[in-house]
Amino acid sequence: MIAYEDGLKIILDSVNTLGTEKLPLEKCAGMVIAENAFARSDLPPFDNSAMDGYAVVAASTRGASRESPVVLRFIGDIPAGIAEPCAVGPGEAARIGTGAKVPGGADTVVIVEDTELKGDEVWVFREYPPGSNIRRAGEDFTAGERGIDAGTLIRPSEISFLAANGYKEVEVFRKPRVGILSSGSELVDHGQDITGAKIRDSNSPMICSLVEKYGGGPEIHGIFPDDERLLTSFITEKADRFDFLITFGGISMGAHDYLKTALEKGGARMAFWKVAIRPGKPFGFGKRKETLIFALPGNPGSAFVTFEAFVKPALFKTRGFNPPYGEYLTATLTDDFPKKEGVTVFCRGNLEGEFPAYRFSPFKKQGSGMISTMVATNAIMIAPAGSQRVSKGETVTVFRT
Ligand code: AMP
Ligand code: MG
Repeated sequence: MIAYEDGLKIILDSVNTLGTEKLPLEKCAGMVIAENAFARSDLPPFDNSAMDGYAVVAASTRGASRESPVVLRFIGDIPAGIAEPCAVGPGEAARIGTGAKVPGGADTVVIVEDTELKGDEVWVFREYPPGSNIRRAGEDFTAGERGIDAGTLIRPSEISFLAANGYKEVEVFRKPRVGILSSGSELVDHGQDITGAKIRDSNSPMICSLVEKYGGGPEIHGIFPDDERLLTSFITEKADRFDFLITFGGISMGAHDYLKTALEKGGARMAFWKVAIRPGKPFGFGKRKETLIFALPGNPGSAFVTFEAFVKPALFKTRGFNPPYGEYLTATLTDDFPKKEGVTVFCRGNLEGEFPAYRFSPFKKQGSGMISTMVATNAIMIAPAGSQRVSKGETVTVFRT
């Protein structure tokens, strides 16, 4: 049996980023950018008003106050989008909208609240220094400046930068195609009624949503009965289509656990079949040609934990991220947590408090077959293998679920 850290290292050493592809900007949110992105022009491209008000020569406002306003001549309107606004001279004011191009001659924008328009006179109630309320060309980005580094997650903020610079398409790392396969003769699709000794397949939809959460492209391949021949032919014929193939169930010691043999007969070279973690000891990882194979245990709690522990980091690395491959927090443990020495325990519990004073309380029920233990908790603590307990007050590593 292999240690958690060693299993993870073997997996990450086998993982590469996939190729890149160009996607239209609208499809890029949540992808990782594979090119450095640059400002293609100055941003803003021209001096423009930061406020609604009047473009003036600052010197014209000298001495203005509520009691003794300065009176300027209203010379016209400059709405946003006008390319050649009329120039403004001393003693003059042109009404200007936010984002409109600052006219020649003007060096300040007086905000509407400090003025009153009376016929063709603009009364100004405050003195302004030059440069007020003007956004200078290039103050946000200068042409040619690097805005986004390759390897960055494209969030709405990055979309804003890319759109502002006219990127219609963006080079991104390809999203991994993830095949999902359930096996077990007791399973029916979650939309079906259950009779006799059947249960609904809850793992396929759960794993599908985890794959989506971490940026993979899931494809559910349905439920296979415990039948070695059917499983083997699926693996032989279909595994090539995927970057990742995730299976659950059928890899323990049961007489009808055929998936293990099917994977090996189907050409997968498995690096290991058991990890010293709990829950999730029966967990296999290997490769079939270029496809990474993750054989997860069938129990929902174990499938969840092994996905978080091993598949998530692999997905993150494949997508082009830098480590750490996931968001890990430190918290103070609120109760003693006895555990088996030599096994890394993924303990479900509750994370409370605020940064940096998080508290983690282990949940009493830790049964790996129980969905209630997953629904009731919001975080998992990684309790290291090396000891028999983690004690109240210790600092522990956790991740949110
Ligand atoms: P196995 O690893 O095949 O022995 O399965 C372990 C346990 O997980 C059994 O109780 C199975 O019924 C259950 N199980 C296996 N696959 C699924 C699934 N896709 N959804 C829900 N439970 C499952
Ligand atoms: Mg089974």
